[in-house]
Amino acid sequence: MKTSTRRTLIIVGVIVLVILAFVLAYELTRPTEIVFSGNENSFESMLASGQVQAIYIEGNYTVKIKRTGDNSFKYFVNVDSRVAFSDKLDEYKAAGYLDNVVVQYDDPSSGSLLSSIIVPIVLYALLFGVFYIIIRKSAGAQGQAMNFGKTKANQVRDIKVRFSDVAGAEEEKQELQEIVDFLKHPKKYTDIGARIPRGVLLVGPPGTGKTLFAKAVAGEANVPFFSISGSDFVEMFVGVGASRVRDLFEQAKKNMPCIIFIDEIDAVGRQRGAGLGGGNDEREQTLNQLLVQMDGFEASSSIIVMAATNRADILDPALMRPGRFDRQIYVNVPDVKGREEIFKVHSRNKPLASDVNFKSLARLTVGFTGADIENVLNESAILAARDNRKLITMKDISEAVNKVEAGPAKKSRLVTETDKRITAYHESGHAIIAKKLGNNTVHEVTIIPRGQAGGFTISLPANDDAYMTKQKLLDRITELLGGRAAEEIVIHDISTGASNDIQRASQIARKMVTEWGMSDSIGNMYLGASEEVFLGRDYQQQLNYSEEVAAKIDEEIKTIIDTQYQVALSILRENRDIMDAMVKALYEKETIYEDEIDALFGEENDNADSIFSSKVNRPDAHKSNGASSLDGVSETDIPKDPSDVE
Ligand code: ADP
Ligand code: MG
Ligand code: ZN
Repeated sequence: MKTSTRRTLIIVGVIVLVILAFVLAYELTRPTEIVFSGNENSFESMLASGQVQAIYIEGNYTVKIKRTGDNSFKYFVNVDSRVAFSDKLDEYKAAGYLDNVVVQYDDPSSGSLLSSIIVPIVLYALLFGVFYIIIRKSAGAQGQAMNFGKTKANQVRDIKVRFSDVAGAEEEKQELQEIVDFLKHPKKYTDIGARIPRGVLLVGPPGTGKTLFAKAVAGEANVPFFSISGSDFVEMFVGVGASRVRDLFEQAKKNMPCIIFIDEIDAVGRQRGAGLGGGNDEREQTLNQLLVQMDGFEASSSIIVMAATNRADILDPALMRPGRFDRQIYVNVPDVKGREEIFKVHSRNKPLASDVNFKSLARLTVGFTGADIENVLNESAILAARDNRKLITMKDISEAVNKVEAGPAKKSRLVTETDKRITAYHESGHAIIAKKLGNNTVHEVTIIPRGQAGGFTISLPANDDAYMTKQKLLDRITELLGGRAAEEIVIHDISTGASNDIQRASQIARKMVTEWGMSDSIGNMYLGASEEVFLGRDYQQQLNYSEEVAAKIDEEIKTIIDTQYQVALSILRENRDIMDAMVKALYEKETIYEDEIDALFGEENDNADSIFSSKVNRPDAHKSNGASSLDGVSETDIPKDPSDVE
């Protein structure tokens, strides 16, 4: 790709140079125009004074002049017509002006071949050449002529990916196993009159393995795999996308059974007529063509069209009709077990030290996708290699987890003394409340800025309880408010660093009141859906309760927050000595781990899983200068709705 781009640039450059040379040569050899008569520099006076050596009648209106002593025709004069000029010549002859002048005529039918025909043709040809190459380049075609409309699909046979390479996601695998069976034994299904599914839409966030799954289906079924990305369809030239779709399906038909995979289908499959400034003709044509092609299959043809998107909600409903993408498979962000499996799959070819514990790693990587985990293991391998070690240790991996989640540690970022003090007390506040309330274990407290965050505290639930109780939620709110409470107690002022904590505490409180029925005065009433809902093409605010109830909700939320803030203040006041000791430790070490934290509370750390407890951490990054980021507890720890809990 890169070298061919360079080659094109060189070709274009050479052509431009040739054109310039032609133009320059033409300009340099172009004779100077003089007037016919009237002054001493005119044609007639030159002729009369015997300064002309030769004249050359070119075409109908031009006469070139070679002056005595010159060796080329450096002047020309425009005449009314060739015929009129020959009459003039007769006059000059009679006057004796032409005695020493050579008179030449061109062939009137061809004009001057070189200047009037060949030069323009060459110039036009070269210009066209440049234009053509540029177009061909922008259409992305390489090597072949005029293949804008040809598909850019990647055809792969013998895909090596198997279901065993996709970890976790057992349900998804089961659903896709059916598709594999369709592809392997289409006859079994058609004989009994079943309609083979045409399209399978994989829906899920980026990095969850949708592309991997599509490949695995092709690999398991051992059929050719035609893949193309939705954005490849969308080109500068109207009609190109549509003809690519046609071509793609034609190729597939020649290779049945097979899989067509359209990655990022939202690029073409967006709802028609949506978007600013009306529809996009090219995209709509492409989408229409896709719909036509999917309808055009024989019922018996064993082509399965798979597509992936992370936004099923914006796809054109026509895509979901029966006979099109009538199967939708949701590929979810992996759960704890899934993450553990993914860690195992991706460490298959990596030498690991014996201390690596996949279970702990899985617990620490809440919210990580398969792609994130792959990235973590890759980063950890790089860390080990950088230190010339042969094995990847738990420390490498946990460092990589931090790196992937929050960007590389920025030890060099300039932190002012005031910032450092605020951050140290703020994080200690979170940590102390987490420890004192006893629901969570605190794994790490740091004041090293990481990514956007000024510092952070990592606490994990001490047990695996699935349900959140009211008391636990209140404790979480207290923990979130602990940062600000510490600032108030020690610094007697509060900073903007707590804005994210406050936002999250309020979110929990709101859900307690409106969704989980945990407020005494409002009771067990669902008042949710006050959030933004995506209605087809637009976000809308939807309220399903009165203004009075809304005011009551706000009051309840305020009561919860205020009460918990007082709890946070009193816990921290009681434990001021521990807080000061923790801040001192943070000033010294910048980062302190679980055993050091426990020691501050006068506890022995007897956790056998020592690597896990001492070093592994999950930075719920916290920002101490304003904008939002996670801190203290992760969103995923809190079930949106207790019924979501499995
Ligand atoms: P998507 O298409 O959903 O954005 P990909 O299929 O491109 O995600 O996944 C990117 C990479 O992440 C894969 O190549 C694979 O290495 C890794 N990955 C994602 N999910 C899984 C999984 N469930 N098991 C193993 N690896 C996974
Ligand atoms: Mg993908
Ligand atoms: Zn905080």
